[in-house]
Amino acid sequence: MSAWARDRASGDGETEVTFRGRGLALRSGTRLILLVCPLCSQRNAQRGAERGICEWCAYVPSPEEAEPVEAGRG
Ligand SMILES: [Zn+2]
Repeated sequence: MSAWARDRASGDGETEVTFRGRGLALRSGTRLILLVCPLCSQRNAQRGAERGICEWCAYVPSPEEAEPVEAGRG
């Protein structure tokens, strides 16, 4: 994870989410910051991440498929 992503992940009011166990994004209110694409598994560039679009395959994940990461499991 790059420095900017790590910085965002530690911020308040943002929830880490996955898409049915794939990819990684941060949900902040209605915004979705796509860090890792659930479709092609590539780490997204900052520009694409903040637009909620994969810079590699142009995939736009549906907010309805976003599920919070369960912390402390296992
Ligand atoms: Zn992708």
